[in-house]
Amino acid sequence: MADIYWNKKFETATTDELRKHQLQLLKEKVKFCYENTAFYRNRLKSAGISPSDIKTLEDAQKIPFTVKDDLRDNYPFGMLAVHLDNIVEIHASSGTTGNPIVGAYTTNDMDVWAELMARSLYATGVRRQDVIHNAYGYGLFTGGLGFHYGAQKIGSTIIPVSGGMTQRQIKLMKDLGSTVLCCTPSYAIYLAEAMNKEGVDPRKDLKLKIGNFGAEPWSERIRERIENDLGIEAFDIYGLTELCGPGVSVECNKHNGLHIWEDHFLVEIIDPKTGDVLPAGEEGELVFTPLTKTGFPLLRFRTRDISVIETEKCDCGRTHSRMMRIRGRSDDMLIIRGVNVFPSQIEYVIMGFPELAAQYQIILDRPEALDVFTIKAELTEQTSKSTQEELNVLKRRIRQKVNNITGLSPIIELVKPGEIPRTVGKAKRVLDLRSGKI
Ligand code: ADP
Ligand code: ZN
Repeated sequence: MADIYWNKKFETATTDELRKHQLQLLKEKVKFCYENTAFYRNRLKSAGISPSDIKTLEDAQKIPFTVKDDLRDNYPFGMLAVHLDNIVEIHASSGTTGNPIVGAYTTNDMDVWAELMARSLYATGVRRQDVIHNAYGYGLFTGGLGFHYGAQKIGSTIIPVSGGMTQRQIKLMKDLGSTVLCCTPSYAIYLAEAMNKEGVDPRKDLKLKIGNFGAEPWSERIRERIENDLGIEAFDIYGLTELCGPGVSVECNKHNGLHIWEDHFLVEIIDPKTGDVLPAGEEGELVFTPLTKTGFPLLRFRTRDISVIETEKCDCGRTHSRMMRIRGRSDDMLIIRGVNVFPSQIEYVIMGFPELAAQYQIILDRPEALDVFTIKAELTEQTSKSTQEELNVLKRRIRQKVNNITGLSPIIELVKPGEIPRTVGKAKRVLDLRSGKI
């Protein structure tokens, strides 16, 4: 038992101890931000708050939110709290429009990140003797190097494969005896398909037993597919460039949400419309205050990620609150004919059909006044041989299921295996062609 925690002292601290620790760090952090960044000094002053007003954890609610646009407006270094000389590494998010979001790390920030990634990997069962196949992209994206540093801290063997060249990835996994796979869930599905095509049986030909998947929303049904296709136990891991990268939260082997490392992050959940703080158990937007970040500190950062926080104890013995699987980003939410739809809801339906491969695309268009909502889904090798009659029945069943959860009746297009483009990084599931059309 002793062996299940990387950092038992913090992972199993009592809630009282944790809250006390958080309060101490929060007070210090607010003061640090006030004294070292013009941005927060101005923000706090205009909200009429001075660091000495933070006396309880609830007092954090007086602090104005920080949003992604604040980071973009202060690109690249406007929010740094230390001199650039103290920055030892820089990462950036993939941000597709405007200025990217830059993360700048001091030596201390790097140590914390490695510690949190080690702790996260360890919670999923990764040990020194493991061989980790890391197919997250290396580079500015925090995925590749985040897993790298954590694995090295544990002392496991890391294979920094990065993305792409899928056939070679399979060969390396086989030849090097990889026991752990780290990549986006969509790439795990792609790898499983490619193995199947090449006649590689993961249960016989590979030693994989654990998978760490994150960086994009995925559903329980994708988990079932990955676990079944690769013969592994799949874990969800979460993070974002603004906070450090991966390592903010991770699932333990009870698989009932992701433990948020609360000795390093103060978490709140808010109503994205009103900004009101919501109680545990209610769905809303995650807001984080990193408590130990030094180079690029943040107070009450709005992630736009939608989740639910649970605070009851977990059977694994860790006391840290759990966030439920991310349902989507508030900016990913689609409004189709006035109805709010998360791509993850569509994914859940598609994955429920064994007749379909784990690939789909949502296409939205507005050729005239009304939105046209199409779901393109891929048939498996087997079902691609079905008769037109059978396919029509399948389409009707899919449309009905989507209708049950959204009230909408999409056009279902069934395509041959391999027709939907695969991605090695984060999947692009939505094609919205409506912008600019009435
Ligand atoms: P971006 O994707 O914005 O370019 P990042 O690489 O920092 O930048 O990605 C962080 C975002 O990825 C998170 O805010 C969240 O939306 C998504 N993400 C990360 N991990 C997960 C996960 N396990 N489940 C769902 N979404 C995730
Ligand atoms: Zn647990």
